[in-house]
Amino acid sequence: MNFIKLPLFLIFFECTLSSQNPAMMSQPPLSHFEKNNNYTPTYFEVISNYKQLTELFPHIQMKEGKTTDSGFPLHEVVLSKYGFDPEIIKEKKLPVLLINNGIHPGEPCGIDASILFVRNLLSDKDYQKILDNMVIVVIPVYNIDGALQRNSTTRANQIGPDEYGFRGNAKNLDLNRDFIKADTKNAIGFYNIFHTWDPDIFVDTHTSNGADYQYTMTLIASQSDKLGAAGQKFQDEMLLPYLYVKMKEKNWEMIPYVYPLKKGIPDFGIQSFLDNPRFSSGYASLFQTWSFMPEAHMLKPYADRVYSTLAFLESISAFISPNAEYILKTRKQWKQEIASQNDFPLQYTLDNSKTDSLEFKGYEARYKPSEITGKDRLFYDKKAPYTKNIPYKKSFKPTMFVSKPKAYIIPQAYKEIVQKLEWNKVKISQLEKDSVFQVERYKIVSLKTSKEVYEGHYPHSDVSVEKITGSKQYYKGDYIIFTDQEKIRFIIETLEPLAPDSYFVWNFFDGILNRKEHFSAYVFEDLAIEILHKNPELKKKFLEKKKEDAHFALDANAQLNFIYENSVYAEPEYKIYPVARLIE
Ligand SMILES: [Zn+2]
Repeated sequence: MNFIKLPLFLIFFECTLSSQNPAMMSQPPLSHFEKNNNYTPTYFEVISNYKQLTELFPHIQMKEGKTTDSGFPLHEVVLSKYGFDPEIIKEKKLPVLLINNGIHPGEPCGIDASILFVRNLLSDKDYQKILDNMVIVVIPVYNIDGALQRNSTTRANQIGPDEYGFRGNAKNLDLNRDFIKADTKNAIGFYNIFHTWDPDIFVDTHTSNGADYQYTMTLIASQSDKLGAAGQKFQDEMLLPYLYVKMKEKNWEMIPYVYPLKKGIPDFGIQSFLDNPRFSSGYASLFQTWSFMPEAHMLKPYADRVYSTLAFLESISAFISPNAEYILKTRKQWKQEIASQNDFPLQYTLDNSKTDSLEFKGYEARYKPSEITGKDRLFYDKKAPYTKNIPYKKSFKPTMFVSKPKAYIIPQAYKEIVQKLEWNKVKISQLEKDSVFQVERYKIVSLKTSKEVYEGHYPHSDVSVEKITGSKQYYKGDYIIFTDQEKIRFIIETLEPLAPDSYFVWNFFDGILNRKEHFSAYVFEDLAIEILHKNPELKKKFLEKKKEDAHFALDANAQLNFIYENSVYAEPEYKIYPVARLIE
């Protein structure tokens, strides 16, 4: 556990700094990366680097936030000319750019690019003018836990840097799948920063895997069909075109993230990425924040990855600052549009009826016999670069909508869910007295459950439900969440069980999926006869099913179960999703 020793280094570093002649400090120091282009600093070096900048310059503050699973606090670095109080900054109507780094510490280009970006900005009076109209918040390293597990092997395919952190956090979870389920303290720390600043634009820096091609930088923008009209129009017509042009101007021509349609190679076309809310950009866009994941390519030299990420950060801030007023106005419209929306799309599918064409600079994908397997193996022929148009499917269409209820009611037993909502600043009240409400509830009709563990869960998929309407007793202390509030998309996406990253999908309601009582067939036989006798309607349904369904006709247990399920003996709460929808 060599990191126990490392804080000493921090002290050492600070001592060195304070022993320097103050006059010499006007020239900001080279970063670790600049001294060695294949080196990315340790977590402690990153923090001491920012600390040094806070000692040299006035417009920067670094704060310790909540503790992460590593035991170390999540730091937040703020660049502002108007002080560091988020409330005052909101009053001054300044857009906020939030930059998150090191969610995957094996992909540290953003960690290094952010250090350069912040330093360059603070040390250049002209460049600093962008801070007249905006505030920048940087999370230096999000997955501190992973950064501490430093190694040079876990990114087997990546070229450089010499050492880097590990993808998993202290609980071996991928933080870029944890934005909804929030199994980590890191996620709670992130929520705190995110909702304190309510950023207008969010950037989460990454390194890509996958195919090889000529570009160093690729970009995942939050799937724009999911945003809503105002958000989509601004992203597709203004922000994205600007970013692509600007990156080209800076000699880092960028392409949408290369997610091949066929055979793992881009030649047959690529599609855009459906960033469900478990991912950073999908999460941030639930709060009407335009969100981006720049993905620098793993096979390009580390220095190129850092400088192209730096160019991306420069480009996006170059857009925000002069357009500050317009960005704030558009985001306000966007928030109003979402707040007044009645029907929310929950599920999407790639729209195959729409195909764009994209000019793509690739390398010929070729095959040769593998020396290991003897089978054909893929390689990208760097001697055969090409530029050609490839199909690009970037549209998704909604396949299912849900109407917004007046409120959701959550029984107090599900405190864990309420806490997750509270961390996301959802407004929640509690019933002051026992009350009966007319509500809609869902009965889970069918679902699939992952056979493999995934990020500490066995998530459900292909969920189907049936709506049940009726009166239901609630008690003092049960939670009520009115839907006329700003965080409505987050509320819908987490509480509606059919949403792809709902709390139901992530197993937080699995208690309802098992029976607590059942029957013994030999005893129930006689009761079943009585039930059918007393209920001619059920008897008719039963006989029809027996006639139409051959499997059913042969399955004695299924037949008894059918009668049981349709009788007063069935458990009333079995498979009933407990979060109710309050309808006027
Ligand atoms: Zn990544």
